[in-house]
Order: sequence, then C-alpha cells, then structure tokens
Amino acid sequence: MPECIVIGGGVIGMMTARALHLAGMEVLLLERGPLGGESSWAGGGIISPLYPWRYQDSVNRFAQHSKRLYPDLVDSLQDESGVDCELLHSGLLVVDQDEQGAALAWANQWSENLQCIADRKTILSIEPVLADNIEQALWMPDIMQVRNPKIIKALKGSFERLQIAYREHTLVQDIIVQAGRVTGVRVADEILGADRVIVAGGAWSAGLIKAVQQVDVEPVKGQMVMFKGGPGMVKRIVLSEGHYIIPRSDGRVLAGSTLERVGFDKTTSGNALEALKATAVSLVPLLGSLPVERQWAGLRPGTENGVPYVCEVDEVAGLYLHAGHYRNGIVLGPASVQLMTELVLGKATFCDAAPYKVNALH
Ligand SMILES: Cc1cc2nc3c(=O)[nH]c(=O)nc-3n(C[C@H](O)[C@H](O)[C@H](O)COP(=O)(O)OP(=O)(O)OC[C@H]3O[C@@H](n4cnc5c(N)ncnc54)[C@H](O)[C@@H]3O)c2cc1C
Repeated sequence: MPECIVIGGGVIGMMTARALHLAGMEVLLLERGPLGGESSWAGGGIISPLYPWRYQDSVNRFAQHSKRLYPDLVDSLQDESGVDCELLHSGLLVVDQDEQGAALAWANQWSENLQCIADRKTILSIEPVLADNIEQALWMPDIMQVRNPKIIKALKGSFERLQIAYREHTLVQDIIVQAGRVTGVRVADEILGADRVIVAGGAWSAGLIKAVQQVDVEPVKGQMVMFKGGPGMVKRIVLSEGHYIIPRSDGRVLAGSTLERVGFDKTTSGNALEALKATAVSLVPLLGSLPVERQWAGLRPGTENGVPYVCEVDEVAGLYLHAGHYRNGIVLGPASVQLMTELVLGKATFCDAAPYKVNALH
C-alpha cells in the first residue's frame, strides 16, 4: 500500500509526486487520461503571472520563489529524463500604457528588473519586429518561459527513471473517508488504500472533493493558436490587453489566449482563431505571413483571484487539496509543490501557509 496517493497527473500532481518520492515517501499517482494531457499541456509556459502587479502577495510570493527554483529544476529533470524543457530567458514586453505606477511599485516590492521605455529605438533594439505604432513599453528582461509539453515529457521520463508509481487511464471515482480520516480511493471496482491522499485534479478538483468540502475551482477555457515561423524571427514574449505572443526556440510562435467560462467544453472556434490571429498580427505584423499550424483549448483550474489551494482539508485528516492555480500553474508550480510537500511531511514551511487554505480569503 502506498503512503500517499496523488489524484491527477498534470504538472501540479506530477511535480508533487516527484517531490514526495525524492523525500522518501512511497507514492502512487492516478491519472484519468494520459499524463499531462489537460491544462498543463495546453498552457503557454510563461514563468510569470501576466501583469503580476494585479495579483495578491500570496501569488507573487510563490511566483518569485518558483523563478528561483526553475533553473535547477529543469537541470534535474534533464538529468533524470534526457529531455530539455527549453527554459528560455525571453523577457517580457508589456505594451499597455496605463499601469506604469502599479508596475514600478510591484518591481520595487519584489526587487524585479522592470524598465519603462518610451522611445522606439530602444524598443526595436529589444524586439526588432514589433509593429510601428508601439512606442512605449514596460520591459522585464528576466522573465523566462518553459515549453510545457516538454516539462510533461521530462516529468514522465523522471517518473520512469526514479521508478515513481503511476497509473494512466485510471479514473478516481470516490475518496474514501472513515471516522474523520482518509483511507484511500475507489477506482472502477477496486479500492486503493493510503493514509494520505492529495487532490491535484486541476479544473475537476471541486467535483472530486465535493462530498467533504466545497471549494470554488471552476474550468476556465483558454484557446491558443500556433504560427509556424523560423528560429529567431520573434525573440520576446509580448503582452497587450491580456493577449500575448510567445516565441519558442524552434521558431514557432504561440498566440493566446481566450478566457471563457463555459464549463467542461474544450472545443475551439473560428471566432477565437480570427481574434487571436488579429491581435498577434497587430503586435508583430510578420506573423500575418506565417501559417497557423494548430489551434487548441485547455481548461484552467480557475479560482476567483488566482490564489491556489495548498492545504490539508479541515475535518479530514490526511486529505490534501492542491489545486486552483488558474492562469499560473506553470509559474507557481515549484513553490506550491514545495509548500505541499512540507505540509504532508509535517515540516516547517518556507512561507506562511495561511493564505492557501480553504476558507482563507481567496
Ligand atoms: C491556454 C492556456 C495558457 C496558459 N498559460 C500559462 C502560462 O503561460 N504560465 C503559467 O504558469 N500557466 C499557464 N496556464 C495555466 C496552467 O497551464 C495551469 O494552471 C496548470 O496546468 C494547472 O495544472 P494542474 O496539474 O492543476 O491541472 P491539469 O493539467 O488540468 O491536470 C489535472 C489532471 O487531473 C486529472 N484528473 C481530474 N479528475 C481526475 C480523476 N477523478 N481521476 C484521475 N485523474 C483526474 C485530469 O485528467 C488532469 O490530467 C495556461 C493554461 C491555459 C489553458
């Protein structure tokens, strides 16, 4: 019998299972589909919240800590799996003009390098292919990205190498609670016992845990398109009015993303395709000459203000919730996983855990 069952094989569940295994715990991860097939695959991989100054300190605290953890994490994953997660120091250019004051205050609070640029020559030295009408920007040179399908592949390779137990295509139907403590889960006709169960079911987490606890995690669909360009054509992540482009190292450029509260529906639409293309081309006109290779949608685990739940569930000993990372699961993941691991192991936590509890002011 494993010491801990993790439900959900997205980045949050996979990173949690790996961290607990490395800490010496016997873990079993259960995933309904293939590992990493949902939001974690569909995302953009920017290692920063978009407009971080709009978020609470609890989100920024995780983001800052994760940014420090990422370089070593991707190195370890590469050693374990042979997969390069394509961690790039692309920097982020924000071309909206009205949030300078808040952005500078945020940069000061978190000691971030953020420059206000007001001349076209400097902007072009940072990103030569930006549209002619962009004359001002906020520039954050230290923002990184990873290629999220590669993170999934690397984590899967790490599971094989470290012999972390997992089962794909295994739907958890129930969490079993007896006399105020978790004792395991039910899958098909089988009961799997464990003294600790971690719910890391992304957008499905509220449904999984609803018999014992109400939480406000709901699916928020994000559609994305990918242009097929050549290496180095576009260099920087560019953000404007909630839409962004992300250049990958092989020349592909992602443009995203929509925010749609339409339940568990992952269909893509022609309207979103046209809107995402138009915004991307308005930022970088050369994208208009490139073919769109692919369009997809993913379901973010949405919470009202983006603060994830990282906690033991009140009244049920051994049951933990690790979900609700909304638009920021890739950037918040490593820090969030560290806190979850410390809670499960009963260790001192690296930060105050109170903001991430159920019933904290989310
Ligand atoms: C378009 C888009 C762009 C994004 N861009 C970024 C970005 O640039 N930066 C960033 O930091 N974040 C980004 N995100 C957000 C990020 O992808 C998510 O926050 C993160 O992937 C959430 O990870 P997760 O493991 O909680 O959820 P998921 O990846 O959805 O994983 C949850 C898993 O649980 C499984 N599961 C559910 N119920 C059960 C069950 N009963 N039994 C077994 N398994 C179950 C599911 O099948 C799923 O695989 C983006 C998301 C989208 C959609």
